[in-house]
Amino acid sequence: MKIVTIIGARPQFVKAAMVSKAVKEYNEKHNERVSEIIVHTGQHFDANMSDVFFNQMNIPKPEYDLGINSLGHGAMTGQMLEKIEKVLLEEEPNWVLVYGDTNSTIAGALAAKKLHIKVAHVEAGLRSFNNKMPEEINRVLTDRISDILFCPTETAVNNLRKEGSENVNYKVIKTGDIMLDAANVYKQYASKPKGVSDGKFILSTIHRAENTDSKEKLTAIFSALSKITSKEKVVLPLHPRTKSFIEKYGIQLDASIEIIEPVGYLEMIWLLSNCSMVITDSGGVQKEAYFFKKPCITIREETEWTELVEAGVNFLTGSNESLIVNTYNELKSKQLDFDTMLYGDGETRKLILNELISY
Ligand code: UDP
Repeated sequence: MKIVTIIGARPQFVKAAMVSKAVKEYNEKHNERVSEIIVHTGQHFDANMSDVFFNQMNIPKPEYDLGINSLGHGAMTGQMLEKIEKVLLEEEPNWVLVYGDTNSTIAGALAAKKLHIKVAHVEAGLRSFNNKMPEEINRVLTDRISDILFCPTETAVNNLRKEGSENVNYKVIKTGDIMLDAANVYKQYASKPKGVSDGKFILSTIHRAENTDSKEKLTAIFSALSKITSKEKVVLPLHPRTKSFIEKYGIQLDASIEIIEPVGYLEMIWLLSNCSMVITDSGGVQKEAYFFKKPCITIREETEWTELVEAGVNFLTGSNESLIVNTYNELKSKQLDFDTMLYGDGETRKLILNELISY
């Protein structure tokens, strides 16, 4: 069986690393080989946004590196579609595997479907119900044309049900969350990043377009972080797009926020294990905060991971400065319950691979 995996952005490397691990483990045990061809679209290309994940997480070297980046949505998705189609005509795989909600996801799914190649979507069924997010468009369309939808949560399965999944010719499977596999596998290798001083800290990451694309919102977020860092140090690995918007808007960063370069996965796992709280607008980091039993303030108006909010461990503040600061103040002394298993048992990679083999 041959799988072509399409990836291009940081969160996809973390997830795909786990399926590649399952493929490797399967091939070691069985005579029948599963071959996986990795296509890197090039969406994230900096060494610290891409190579570091391939190195640290043993992701096989991409067979194809399409080098498509720094373009608007239309040009980027269009070029990906064209180049992925060529790869698929050459490789003739049984499956195309796509992850999450980026332009690489929709381009991979669309190229494959038009060639009548089966598509499996990992992290299917998530909805923010905010059609202004490019990610929402990518997810909805990818789900609709995929053959197997691997859903991380019951909420995701229910979202699809509400869209009439029983009338659509795809298979919906609840698998648990593949990022839990990654956290469990790699937590023993956590490594302290350079540039982080000793002592208690809050971990923050900010990169969503809805925040970075607005001067007002980004200014309010960094103003809230300044107030918080005067009480407890904030460590913030700065995403390149956020960095360029901070420069563009001329936002003055508080010198006591510890801004560091984006870190590798092992360093991120260290930060997550050792922080007291997480403040983020990342999808993946919200869940990782939960895996590592840390309260999370989410700098968004809504989240796809609603079970975290319902469990009382994740708090949505949007970019409202005083709400962010007040939520931090309330959470400092609160004990939260992280004991429910919201995301499966950490063996999602095996379930996904077995399903692809037996379909
Ligand atoms: N991540 C990382 N280094 C960083 C920031 C994030 O390794 O400096 C990891 C993070 O732990 C998670 C993944 O990247 O596993 C999430 O990616 P991101 O926040 O970029 O995307 P999202 O999940 O919001 O789509």
